[in-house]
Amino acid sequence: MNILGHFVSNEFWPGASNRISEIVNPATGAVTGKATLASVEDVDTIVRTAAEAAPGWAATPPAKRAMVMFEFRDLLKKHTNELAELLSSEHGKTLPDAKGEIARGIEVVEFACGIPQLLKGEYSEAVAANVDCFSVRQPLGVVAGITPFNFPAMVPLWMYPVAIACGNTFVLKPSEKDPSVVMRIAELLAQAGLPPGVFNVVNGDKVAVDALLDHPLVEAVSFVGSTAIGRYIYSRGSANGKRVQALCGAKNHLVVMPDADLEQVSDALIGSAYGSAGERCMAISVAVPVGEDTADRLVDVLAPRVRALKVAPFTDPSSELGPVISKQSYDHIHSYIEQGLEKGAELVVDGREISLQGYEDGYFIGGCLFDRVTPDMPIYKDEIFGPVLSVVRAASYEDAVGLINDHEYGNGTAIFTRDGDAARDFWARVRIGMVGVNVPIPVPVAYHSFGGWKRSLFGDHHIHGMEGVRFNTRLKTMTTRWPSGIRTGAEFDITGGKVV
Ligand code: NAD
Repeated sequence: MNILGHFVSNEFWPGASNRISEIVNPATGAVTGKATLASVEDVDTIVRTAAEAAPGWAATPPAKRAMVMFEFRDLLKKHTNELAELLSSEHGKTLPDAKGEIARGIEVVEFACGIPQLLKGEYSEAVAANVDCFSVRQPLGVVAGITPFNFPAMVPLWMYPVAIACGNTFVLKPSEKDPSVVMRIAELLAQAGLPPGVFNVVNGDKVAVDALLDHPLVEAVSFVGSTAIGRYIYSRGSANGKRVQALCGAKNHLVVMPDADLEQVSDALIGSAYGSAGERCMAISVAVPVGEDTADRLVDVLAPRVRALKVAPFTDPSSELGPVISKQSYDHIHSYIEQGLEKGAELVVDGREISLQGYEDGYFIGGCLFDRVTPDMPIYKDEIFGPVLSVVRAASYEDAVGLINDHEYGNGTAIFTRDGDAARDFWARVRIGMVGVNVPIPVPVAYHSFGGWKRSLFGDHHIHGMEGVRFNTRLKTMTTRWPSGIRTGAEFDITGGKVV
């Protein structure tokens, strides 16, 4: 069995560490690969390589950097099917989901292709007599990215295309659970013409992460993952003087107004609560119908559809719901379902007793639907990160908004209604970073920026779009004065090029 090493200087490198992790196919529970877990010394070698490549890449004109991005975009398109299969075999998500995440990642590369336009500075002429003032954005140097298992291609693509296009070099530490797709994409970037050392991958665990957070040559860290780890990354990274953005966990509510089209709502909930087995930071995990009648009608429409979800591995093209990522995650989700029952929530659809012939050791959980969940219950408060939807009945629209605003997380939310007034009030007042109106998963397009509020984000910057450009550059502002008086040609020594 091959052991996945690191990617540095446009080549695979085994590193010097002898620690390894196992990569497991979640559909079967079988070990399908192994990856090296970097030592502090391995991280140092890779960061130093990135730092050596940084001045040359920063001096490369943005239009030339953009040319690499154009090539890279074409290669990602061409290799989408191959990348999706590799991704699904380690993550477990359906092939349409895997292709979808690659397509969303490609959008960020397309955004990065516009870097000459995005880096244009500002100029103020004559701020005082003979004095002009102008600002430019310059790259930071080495930027590190630390990413989660749930979007092994897309989340890294939120980071490095913008960082690299801005003139930085990059060291990516992907999730140890599904790192192979990143390694293949690294090869494509090299094929696209990226100079050695500009994009590097270090495989590893906490040892590698801590080494990146402490390394003096790492200027900035982009993190996406759980809130507990994100808080740690933010405090350790910023205590070391680095710029840090940490996008974290979530609990996303979808408000169902009495006038909403419930067929449309249940379509939206099937996709947003159960798609990718609920392992999305923008998954809807709480439906909030307003009024008892809306709630009864919603549960009636939704329950049969949840029961009918096709649970199968990604190799079955009719699969709608694949396995969750690991045994640990499987047990974690089961324990929340048990807690929900103990606390008195009503389990309308119980997806626990699922067994697929030939996949008995896989981590499959069918769709679960809880009704009459209350805000004090752990299944409401905590991120479960599985195919479990809770219905919390709200007596009024105001109660629904209050519920969302009081929750510690603030990543995404949505309202379904035909009433423009309610919709406008909702997006204006709700304390959440990304809001959908009749759109269940309001993930911004790449030229806007992605990010939550409250405990869903530590740091100031959202990711990709102009926020990504700001995060990955430092502003420099010049004030210049030139003596007045136009010289005539006779005052120049033309041959020596000197002013006389
Ligand atoms: P995770 O926090 O366990 O891991 C994320 C990264 O941190 C991985 O690379 C991992 O190796 C590293 N890590 C794990 N434990 C560490 C430790 N003790 N010290 C240092 N580094 C450590 O997250 P996950 O389980 O891979 O991903 C799921 C989480 O990510 C969910 O909470 C989800 O909401 C969140 N997420 C958030 C967003 C967002 O944009 N807000 C997007 C995707 C996923």
